[in-house]
Amino acid sequence: MSSPSPSPSPDSPSEIVPFIAALPKAELHIHLEGSVDADTLWELATQQRSPLFAQGRAAVDALYQTSKFSAFLDAFKVVCLHLQTPDDYELITYRALQRMAAQNVRYAEITLSVGVMVWREQAIDPLFSGVERGARRARRDFAIRAQWIFDAVRHLPLEQGWEVARSAARLTDRGVVGIGIGGNEASGPAENFGAIFEFASQRGLRRVAHAGEAVGPESIWSALRILHAERIGHGLSAAADRGLVEQLAQSRVPVEICLTSNLRTGGISEISRHPLRDYFDAGMHVSLHTDDPALFGVDLNSEYLLAHQVFGFSREELRQLAVNSFEASFLPPNEQMEFLKELAEH
Ligand SMILES: [Zn+2]
Repeated sequence: MSSPSPSPSPDSPSEIVPFIAALPKAELHIHLEGSVDADTLWELATQQRSPLFAQGRAAVDALYQTSKFSAFLDAFKVVCLHLQTPDDYELITYRALQRMAAQNVRYAEITLSVGVMVWREQAIDPLFSGVERGARRARRDFAIRAQWIFDAVRHLPLEQGWEVARSAARLTDRGVVGIGIGGNEASGPAENFGAIFEFASQRGLRRVAHAGEAVGPESIWSALRILHAERIGHGLSAAADRGLVEQLAQSRVPVEICLTSNLRTGGISEISRHPLRDYFDAGMHVSLHTDDPALFGVDLNSEYLLAHQVFGFSREELRQLAVNSFEASFLPPNEQMEFLKELAEH
């Protein structure tokens, strides 16, 4: 008589994958432009008969194989150059939200590179109308809700940052909830943006900053002290400064962790070297996000699976990461509470 086969452990791959898929999640660090997949970029290039179209489909696929920060920035720029009309923005917004909904993302705070739009001398409001149309259709079709963070670019002329803040302030009643900064930390320090963030804050916008992604912990300190950032994007280099880890843990300023992104842009040499586990165990408020999922070939569920497989996050810890994602959001408390109640029963 054969013995009955053992039932799979709750943490076996056959059990953990559906567990992660079913967790309601909030996506708080995702760039709309970095969500444009290769097929969509090719579609836009074909419509526009752009130089990329002339190079052929293989050139599009090559763009999505980034392994360095500079190559990533180049790819991001090429995607941006293909975003020209409100219809383009409607299309990419709808598709991004469709993919997120398939990951059981229930709420997304999506970053829009308005600094790049300003630099390209595009009119923001008509393009944002396209974004809104895409988001409305996605909410109707997939029951996913989205709000927006307007991102300024650190290394572009500062007037661009002011225009980003003014645009965001004009659109707060249309779902724009925050202002952020991204781009080259070394050439665009937080000091440059203090007055801009203050202006935005006075108009009801929340403050986020990419910091400590490609340079040291001093950039995170500046984001906290000068910009009064309410969330830190990446925060990778905090690991090099114990005092900063303690400060983040004590203040509970949320840190948006993007595991694969940090590997693909060269911030870490191997995924196992990411400080996620240290941060979590030290009491920092961390949550998982994808950054630029199409460019990095990831989705949110695969990032949660990495946390389990590489860093040993148990079901309860994965659930806590999902809880953190809603707590760190800029949703009103009553709406946060709805999701947190749902998670408590998961
Ligand atoms: Zn980012």
